[in-house]
This record gives sequence, C-alpha cells and structure tokens, in this order.
Amino acid sequence: MYSQGFPQVACQLGGEQILLPYQNLKEISVPRYYWPNNREQLVLVCREHGHTSVYSNKELRWGPLPPSDHNQTLTNFWKAEFRCDRQNCGKIVLAHTRLGIEHTSESVAKFLLESRPGLKCANNHVLPVRAQVLFVEIVRL
Ligand SMILES: [Zn+2]
Ligand SMILES: [Zn+2]
Repeated sequence: MYSQGFPQVACQLGGEQILLPYQNLKEISVPRYYWPNNREQLVLVCREHGHTSVYSNKELRWGPLPPSDHNQTLTNFWKAEFRCDRQNCGKIVLAHTRLGIEHTSESVAKFLLESRPGLKCANNHVLPVRAQVLFVEIVRL
C-alpha cells in the first residue's frame, strides 16, 4: 500500500507496535498522521500492558500494519486531557490510547488513569485515579 508503511510507535515495555491514526491523501505521497498539536511528546498507554510510554517524534516508525490493529474498524484511538489536582499545580496532561470499540469515554479515562507507571504532569506529579477529566474523545483525522 504505502511503500514506507504505516505510522506507529513501539510499547516501551513490551515492544508491540501501536498504530497512530493516519490518513491517505492521494495528492501527497506520505500519509498524514496524528501527533498532538504543538507538543514534542506523545503520551500513549498500550492496551496490552496498561503501560505509559512517552515518545518523541524521532521514535515514530513506518512499518507494516501491526497485527493487533489489522482491522482498524475494531479499535479506536483516543485522546484525553486531565488536570493535575495537586495543590497549586493545575497542569494539563494529555494522554492517548488505542482500545477496542467496546470502550466508552468513561472506561478510557479510567484505563488511562490506572496505567503504570502512570500519567505525569509537567511538575512530575503522578495523576491519581480520581484526577479531574477535562475531555475524552476519539481522534479522527
Ligand atoms: Zn505494551
Ligand atoms: Zn502536577
């Protein structure tokens, strides 16, 4: 399909490949892919291990379609924002995951907040499971 493959990152615990949302545009040879706006890092929790990985754009790879994501209609790629509720902090934390279509925004928020070693704000606080949820939505390119 694409000579360069599909945009993906490897789980930093188990190494399985996780597909990023992408869009095939006929006018351009390289597919457009999702990366959070104006951010150097992508925070992504894998569904196999519930592991929190933090990626820079250099860690993005173009490879064959990952087997577990072969049928994209069976998974959704989610993004969610939380607010650190540690006293006087209030930093916003953006996190992502690719999960089966049975998930709801509530179960996705819970899954992200229960990840290990956990979601961290810019001040290095690990968010508690009861952290304030600002939004949870499916990424569509
Ligand atoms: Zn993993
Ligand atoms: Zn904080």
